Amino acid sequence: MNCDMCGRILEFPYEVEVEGATMQLCKSCSVFGRITKQPKISVIRKKYVIKREEYIDFIVEDYPVRIRNARESKNLKQQDLANKIAVKESLIHKMESGNLEPSIELAKKLEKFLGIKLVEKQKEEHQRVKINDSTLTIGDLLKVK
Ligand SMILES: [Zn+2]
Repeated sequence: MNCDMCGRILEFPYEVEVEGATMQLCKSCSVFGRITKQPKISVIRKKYVIKREEYIDFIVEDYPVRIRNARESKNLKQQDLANKIAVKESLIHKMESGNLEPSIELAKKLEKFLGIKLVEKQKEEHQRVKINDSTLTIGDLLKVK
């Protein structure tokens, strides 16, 4: 398609009303009339799906029972266990009464020493959709040309 006025090849024709007639014009010639239709602008839509899997360590809910049972089966007093893993006796007491959830680090120490399981892994999936619209303006397209 060519511009009805100057003959230039039209990639993005403007529909222009010039003295009652509808013409397909280039941008420069479109100023001679009234634009009735702008050229279409391409929109490039990119969609990214970002998937991420994460494993999160968490302390089992019944840790107080597990710790106490394991300790008692080894015939250890709270003080003994405290000494073995180098923590305060009050900490063992608090954990066994469910008032203090051990840190992952401490729980792993207890797991190793008592031969029990306190830390479990939970899988978490994150999914995020990112849409990136890049709108090419006529200006951009002309530059490319
Ligand atoms: Zn023209």
